[in-house]
Amino acid sequence: MENQKNNRRQFFKLAFGALALAPVMRVADVIAAAMPKSEKIKKKMIDEKTAKRLKYVAKAEEAKGNKKYKAGSNCANCKFYKADKGEPEWGKCTMAANRYVSGAGWCKSYRAKK
Ligand code: SF4
Repeated sequence: MENQKNNRRQFFKLAFGALALAPVMRVADVIAAAMPKSEKIKKKMIDEKTAKRLKYVAKAEEAKGNKKYKAGSNCANCKFYKADKGEPEWGKCTMAANRYVSGAGWCKSYRAKK
């Protein structure tokens, strides 16, 4: 009887432990999905100081509060963006000292490609 109680207790401990980890794992997956695969790109990502100066956001929708932001504008359709050949969802930005930004990003220096 005592052994059965311990087994049940053990089961609930494991079940609740797994449930508690589930959201953390999903967040980690999202972060991993948002990171480039290439080490070359990872090493030359936009630095914090430049990102602050440009008011860069990795997801253009996060710039909705900015007066300069227009729906549909993002790094991928900005004239300063040069898509990487291997991972075109990342590209070098001349306004960010040729560091890599996300194609889905946006900053206050955005200029539409003509
Ligand atoms: S200048 Fe253009 S490509 Fe560079 S971070 Fe700003 S929006 Fe993106």
